[in-house]
Amino acid sequence: MNTLNLQTDTTMPSNRPLAEAPDEGLADALLDWFSRHRRDLPWRRTYDPYHVWVSEVMLQQTQMERGVAYFERWMERFPDVAALAEAHEDEIMKHWEGLGYYSRARNLHKAAREVHERLGGRLPDTVEGLQARPGVGPYTARAVASIAFGRDVCVIDANVERVASRLYDIDVPVKSRQARAEIESRCAALLPSGLARDFNQAMMELGSLVCAPRNPACVACPLAGWCRARALGVQEDRPVTAAPPEPVYLTMATGVLVHDGLVLAQKRMPDDIWANLWEFPGGIVEDGESPQQAVIREYLEETGLAVNHPEPIGSFKHSFTRYRVTLYAFAVNLLSDPSEIELRAAQEHRWATWSQIRSLAFPAGHRKLVRHLDADVKFLAGVRP
Ligand code: SF4
Repeated sequence: MNTLNLQTDTTMPSNRPLAEAPDEGLADALLDWFSRHRRDLPWRRTYDPYHVWVSEVMLQQTQMERGVAYFERWMERFPDVAALAEAHEDEIMKHWEGLGYYSRARNLHKAAREVHERLGGRLPDTVEGLQARPGVGPYTARAVASIAFGRDVCVIDANVERVASRLYDIDVPVKSRQARAEIESRCAALLPSGLARDFNQAMMELGSLVCAPRNPACVACPLAGWCRARALGVQEDRPVTAAPPEPVYLTMATGVLVHDGLVLAQKRMPDDIWANLWEFPGGIVEDGESPQQAVIREYLEETGLAVNHPEPIGSFKHSFTRYRVTLYAFAVNLLSDPSEIELRAAQEHRWATWSQIRSLAFPAGHRKLVRHLDADVKFLAGVRP
């Protein structure tokens, strides 16, 4: 990828008075900057609609570098709509494992099947047609319609919200209806006809590389001469945001059960949080309960199996949305007949070899546990490879 030169851009009209013809030349300056500073990203090499679609879904809530690595691995295995449509969901989830927000992967799969079976493998080229596909919201539909198909529509993501809030010194909360309406109308007014692909990417790229949430690099910004927040010295106060929600701390416990050299894993319900991902049985530690007691209770409640003697393996921390989770993991000993298993919180179970466990997709805490066990020679000695 190109690195950005943060020295002052000598082509920018930094002393331009703000009041006269406020936006004249702004889009040209932005497009000129983008032509010189755009990053070399894999989906920009062809603008293949499937590539653009996957990249837009993948990059939501994901940092660029990480997103590129996942994108390249994904395209090696699922190079087109047909390959994705025909793949097994477990394999898709495994390729998504670690990106979080797993409904995005499930929806990509559903939409790919629909496009493959009903539309001959061709993605619709309009916002409306794209938005009619499962899981495709207004943002993704507008991004694909403009970037892949050149439709004249604006794309508003968090980067664009920030750039526009600063350019126009929008002093109401950025997620409010009023701010949204202003950002949309400002962007629509700026959008040069026929250039939506580059314009939208340029706005997002500027927000990502220059107009950062903290310490925006105004000296390197091609739009500095138009920026009202910069002129007023309030760029750090824009966009106006609401206070983040208070974190919620959760303590969870899980048990790894090995029987006859095989490890018990269960697949979460399709309508549950972390739907269709795999896990070792367990759950939330209740008030007044120790993690050991919780794992014994959860086994009985979730699988009908009695276990005892939980031996600590370790504790694993992870966060999702506002939750901060500590997962306590134990090796447990089976008291029941394994054939008596009766799932109450999962759609299926598997007695798996270790290589099968490694091929399944787990949520973050359990994934850390699997990685930990991967290096535990004593544990692996008792498990079929
Ligand atoms: S001048 Fe500064 S605050 Fe304004 S758009 Fe550029 S980087 Fe952002």
